[in-house]
Amino acid sequence: MNENKERNLILLGAAGAGKGTQSQKMATRLNIPQISTGDMLRQARRDQTPLGKSADGYMTRGELVPDELVIGLVEERLQKPDAGPGFILDGFPRTLEQARALDTLLKKLGRAPLQVVDVQVPEALLVERLSGRLSCPKDGASYHLKFAPPKTPGHCDRCQGALTERADDKPDAVKQRLVEYRNKTAPLIDYYHQQRLLHPVDGVGEVEAVFSRITQALQLS
Ligand code: AMP
Repeated sequence: MNENKERNLILLGAAGAGKGTQSQKMATRLNIPQISTGDMLRQARRDQTPLGKSADGYMTRGELVPDELVIGLVEERLQKPDAGPGFILDGFPRTLEQARALDTLLKKLGRAPLQVVDVQVPEALLVERLSGRLSCPKDGASYHLKFAPPKTPGHCDRCQGALTERADDKPDAVKQRLVEYRNKTAPLIDYYHQQRLLHPVDGVGEVEAVFSRITQALQLS
């Protein structure tokens, strides 16, 4: 299928489903930006901006940041020129209110319809994946001690920066993030299904195998 047409993608899935890894690969494949609200919020927190300071407590506890903070961030980001040929949203929308705000924005901007991939992983495996996860604070690359170890222990393959564990990958925050997913984000599956935009994909298995399921679901291969 034509890979030059505008592609506006959403990767849905619980924490640990592999959204970050898969959307990075997709961004490279289609040459469109990966827009991760989690990465943007973590950056804002590191920079101690007003947004970062407001989001900090919610993130540490594993709760969702209030809709109005996140929606504004995404609205601004989607209007940057690099998102013109398309974008892949990773971690947004996470509530019905966010999904509706996104629909309104895309309509206003006259953008192509969304394609939504739901990356499905059983909860027990999510918990296993979230413990031992490491990420690079500089470029957002993600690793896992067991499933995807970096070439040099503790360092990013791409930029050699020191890898860190996310504060919200600690057990209490992980539990809370899964609760937030079940209560607030899972209803989006039905929302997009009803609009016939949803592509469910089995997220269990090797990174490459899952990626090829996603490209098939989106008819990219
Ligand atoms: P993530 O890296 O996508 O797992 O996001 C990490 C944390 O950032 C989440 O647990 C939330 O606290 C916050 N966050 C990221 N994206 C959103 C969103 N779309 N809505 C609300 N909170 C978000």
